[in-house]
Amino acid sequence: MSPRGLLATFREFLPLPEDVPAVTLGEGETPLVAAPALRERLGSLAAGGRGSRTAVYLKLEGCNPTGSFKDRGMAVAVTRARARGARALICASTGNTAASAAAYAARAGLACHLVLPAGGVAAGKLGQALACGARVHLVDGNFDAALDVVRAVAEARPDVELVNSLNPYRLEGQKTAAFEVVEQLRADGAGEPAALFLPVGNGGNVTAYGMGFEQWLRAGRLGRAPRLFGVQAEGAAAVALGRPVAEPRTVASAIRIGRPAYGERAREAVARSGGRLLTVSDGEILEVQRLLAREEGVFAEPASAASVAGLLKAAAAGLVPDDGPVVCVLTGHGLKDLDTPLGTWASAQLGEPQPPAGVLERLLAGEGSA
Ligand SMILES: *Cc1c(COP(=O)(O)O)cnc(C)c1O
Repeated sequence: MSPRGLLATFREFLPLPEDVPAVTLGEGETPLVAAPALRERLGSLAAGGRGSRTAVYLKLEGCNPTGSFKDRGMAVAVTRARARGARALICASTGNTAASAAAYAARAGLACHLVLPAGGVAAGKLGQALACGARVHLVDGNFDAALDVVRAVAEARPDVELVNSLNPYRLEGQKTAAFEVVEQLRADGAGEPAALFLPVGNGGNVTAYGMGFEQWLRAGRLGRAPRLFGVQAEGAAAVALGRPVAEPRTVASAIRIGRPAYGERAREAVARSGGRLLTVSDGEILEVQRLLAREEGVFAEPASAASVAGLLKAAAAGLVPDDGPVVCVLTGHGLKDLDTPLGTWASAQLGEPQPPAGVLERLLAGEGSA
């Protein structure tokens, strides 16, 4: 069975009338998979102490239609935009919002304008947006400057719908991932989540998870909301620091944001849950990206690996709860950003092409079978 899309599955929990036709690409219902290698690593880091027997799960949001969780929010925001008669979408983006907006605009028959920081968007994401026919406007500046532009356009032009996470329907769609985490763990017999780790850029997604768990609690479908651990890159840690970062820097372009729109709400959501904000270095992010791919077979983009880097850091500090399973959200697919795999890792692996007979001989001799 293929996913029905969020609006069909969760309509009663979303602020849209029944009769509004959904714009959907079958987003949501992404896999929640156990991470046995990570669990083992956590056990040895915690060294018999707190969290040493905690089960670890990965929520594979890269399995959404355009390869990131942004599709959840986009399905709801674009459904609403079309219903109210908007003619075009606009957003600023570090890449994934752009790829998602372009696809859902195409699906809905709307125009799409993307304002992107020149040089700040991974090639895969830009390629997705261009393939879907979006108009791309590059700004000589960072994400924060691009967001200023689109806010001003949306204010002046009522026919254009802003689909950044400032759009409240985006968060409404994204909160459904929290519902799924609870129901998938229940179906797996794993109990209720004790903690959720996720990367934080603009702070919209951690705010949305907070909304989702609290709504599930009120609906009587959850006994206790998990602690939220928001993970930021050291060079772009505006939410963790509680102040803007003028020139955010990190290899994880999806969370390279200096003036987070949901900074305050993100801090509140984390504090209310009893969780924490953590920071990790680019070195830790890339190391964990590789570890996830090699030990779990899961290829996630660098920003997504920040969640697991945060988990390992928390484990070493004895901060991981041991009263239930822990979930790391892998927000986007590794295929979107191939700079590191093809740059760093390929140069260590691939030499000059060899004649087939030479390759055959080496493999038959057992090379690399270990
Ligand atoms: C957008 C995005 C984030 C950050 O989410 P915020 O809502 O901005 O905090 C993290 N990872 C990926 C892959 C993203 O696309």
